Amino acid sequence: MCGFPLIHLQKHLNTLVQQSNRFVALSEEFARPGPPGTRPLFDRRVVRIVTPGTLIDEPFLNHYENNYLLAISSDASRSLEGHDDVGLAWIDVSTGEFFTKYTTMEYLYDDVTRIRPREVVLTKKMESVDSCPVRAIVQRECPVVSYSDTVTPTPPQPLVQSVLASDSVSEHAEPPTTSTLSSHETSAVNLLTSYLQLNLLEFMPDLSAPNKEVAEARMEIDAHTLKSLEIQEGIQEGGTSGTLLGCVKKTVTGGGTRLLTRWLCSPSASLSEINARQSLVAFFHARPHLRRDFRERLRGIDDVTRTVQKFLLGRGSTSDVAAISTAISTWSFIKGRILLERELQLREQNNHLDPELKSNPPMRNGSRGTGGPINPEFSEELSALHTRFQGLLKQREDLESDLQRHYNAPSLTLRSSPLHGLHVHVAKSKRDAAKAKASPTFTLIAESNSTCCFFHQGWAQVGSELLETSQTIASVEKAAFEVLRNEVKMHETQLRRNARVIDELGCDAGFCQPRLRYALHKTEHDRRVACTFHVVNGRHPTVEIGLLSSGRMFTANTVSLSPDSQLHIITGPNMAGKSTLLRQTALIAILAQSGSFVPADYAQVGIVDRLFSRIGAKDDLFRDRSTFMVEMQEAADILKKATPRSLVIMDEVGRGTSVRDGLAIAFAVVRHLYFKNNCRALFATHFHELSDMLGCTSDYRGAGRFERIGFFCTDVQETEFGSFAYSHRLRPGVNKESHGLKVAQLAGMPPSTVAVAREIMARLKSDDVWIPPLRQDALQALGKSQIPGRCFFRTLNDRYQSLSYIIRI
Ligand code: ADP
Repeated sequence: MCGFPLIHLQKHLNTLVQQSNRFVALSEEFARPGPPGTRPLFDRRVVRIVTPGTLIDEPFLNHYENNYLLAISSDASRSLEGHDDVGLAWIDVSTGEFFTKYTTMEYLYDDVTRIRPREVVLTKKMESVDSCPVRAIVQRECPVVSYSDTVTPTPPQPLVQSVLASDSVSEHAEPPTTSTLSSHETSAVNLLTSYLQLNLLEFMPDLSAPNKEVAEARMEIDAHTLKSLEIQEGIQEGGTSGTLLGCVKKTVTGGGTRLLTRWLCSPSASLSEINARQSLVAFFHARPHLRRDFRERLRGIDDVTRTVQKFLLGRGSTSDVAAISTAISTWSFIKGRILLERELQLREQNNHLDPELKSNPPMRNGSRGTGGPINPEFSEELSALHTRFQGLLKQREDLESDLQRHYNAPSLTLRSSPLHGLHVHVAKSKRDAAKAKASPTFTLIAESNSTCCFFHQGWAQVGSELLETSQTIASVEKAAFEVLRNEVKMHETQLRRNARVIDELGCDAGFCQPRLRYALHKTEHDRRVACTFHVVNGRHPTVEIGLLSSGRMFTANTVSLSPDSQLHIITGPNMAGKSTLLRQTALIAILAQSGSFVPADYAQVGIVDRLFSRIGAKDDLFRDRSTFMVEMQEAADILKKATPRSLVIMDEVGRGTSVRDGLAIAFAVVRHLYFKNNCRALFATHFHELSDMLGCTSDYRGAGRFERIGFFCTDVQETEFGSFAYSHRLRPGVNKESHGLKVAQLAGMPPSTVAVAREIMARLKSDDVWIPPLRQDALQALGKSQIPGRCFFRTLNDRYQSLSYIIRI
């Protein structure tokens, strides 16, 4: 309750709400007439509570990211039992983008991770239940969790009656269907609206119908994959540098970037949608001049989605109306230009002409809105007022020069001030004021050593008419602005839709101009090729850029998964590019289904319904999960969820435990992926023995044949002078060498240690490891009476048994 100047409000909101996750109540004063003869009284009323998830148009909002408030509805007590229905409803108050989704407890964490809400609202009931699983999941991802009751009755029907089945503009064009929201989604919408009403109070907007997200229409990427593939945010430093988004982002507007982020985190799984995007990408690709002009034009327009939302929230200024007007004229230009290009395209197709040879009219820059007051042409009344105002200005000018001339006073000016009202001002009093002082038409009202102020009837008349006219103009403009404000509100849906179309075009135009050579791919839906993932000379989008910046080349590799070869075992030395290959495969699938060009010479991708990865395990000791536990939980999740349409990448599953345990687990996981999930998969491992086990003609339990498993590897090339280089080139086969000692050497391990490791390695290879007689306590610990001094390894089993002895001693 301390005072500060109003102009510092945003600075304090930024510190309190944005940076410290505090809630701030804004209270305003409202004058109430007091008893006669007294001064008015002032009531104070809270007009809004500013929370991190309900920001409207605060200047510190990041225009390139959505600021979502997510409401989760689930029966808190039932969800303790595990599997449960969950309703999600989330909105970006600053843009009005509003979504719902039906999900289950199993997928809740993935959804929350993808949505990245700034604030989550749960029911009061969830707050009271001890160890509520929904709360536990949410708190892992979002630091701001609020609790609210649904205070409104069932929301008015218009809110939920038109539900759009997908996130794409093409489908937005469909007439709205009747309500298809599940009861949990409806509860989540109610919870969300109640919370918004409680906090936005007088700023509560009319919400448009939510877009219902349908899981089947999108490629589902689980939370771990979303993070470890660094799609939107880097793991190490946060931010977008080194991420897929940072790499492919060519959008110029805030709306375009927000949409691109959504597309990359939740790519499409609808063939028609992907094809539609791709044809636009190809269209822009064939027309670099159009692309350039289009982007230039986009730079000149504001974030219309956010501007329209400002009006719905009871804000917005004349400059916002001007911004919308500029956007509309830009959209019209763009539409005209694209139609023209389409016409040319058709003619080209008929005449087989090279599109590059065509000369196209440049996209003219429309005049940008002035951002000033209402155009005088708005109404006849306003126009007449402006004419009158101009006439009065002219009268003032004429009067001023007449007086200067007649009274021989060049420093004379006609002025208005709060102190002297409308007056004639003479600056050089001694030189210019004598004649005026002598005239009866001038009445002296103030005088100093150098200036004089006079009352003059003629100027008082013209001046007061000027003031009156300008006040009338202001009030007529205010009324006109109200009309415009209502018009913006009335056309809200069309404005949003057009803004969305332009955002989509912005993404498509950006997709076809990657920094490096990318190719358009074919996405297939056909049953025969649905399980194909054929990428010729694919590259990792961000690693390639990183290498190029230090003058190194990326080695492209071909990956060809097909119904005849659906799971590939990848072996090879450390540092030879196995993880990179796995990640690039996943990223190419994401780019392909987002509609983008992909970093490859050719790609044919059968639609992936879910993308999973088991890469880069990290400790989660805070939640009592060791590295190996995390690894196993993630692997278990994949085995439970992957479908024959899914794409799985797994890197070194089983390395976090003993060699024997790890090998057994790795084999069992691959076997499950192959026989049960029956999905496309890349499995990188150092257990080359796995290849021996999977290379058998059939499964050891007779579950079937392993014939659809392929074996690929990478290599180290050694020179005769003892140095070596990683080739990073994938070839068919199994590489039994991990070359771990080379990495140890490279990493700067003491030479003596590397030498010992090398010696032991040689002995292990020759099955000739000598173990000195064991200490008495070691013998007791091992439960043995004696161990032979020399030991030969015959079988795999013996070998691991003895290895573990060496380690223990
Ligand atoms: P592994 O998983 O086999 O240990 P990584 O995939 O982690 O190897 O690759 C190690 C490093 O090798 C990467 O950081 C990258 O700099 C480089 N690298 C990987 N793949 C390639 C490639 N195809 N072309 C060029 N350099 C590569």
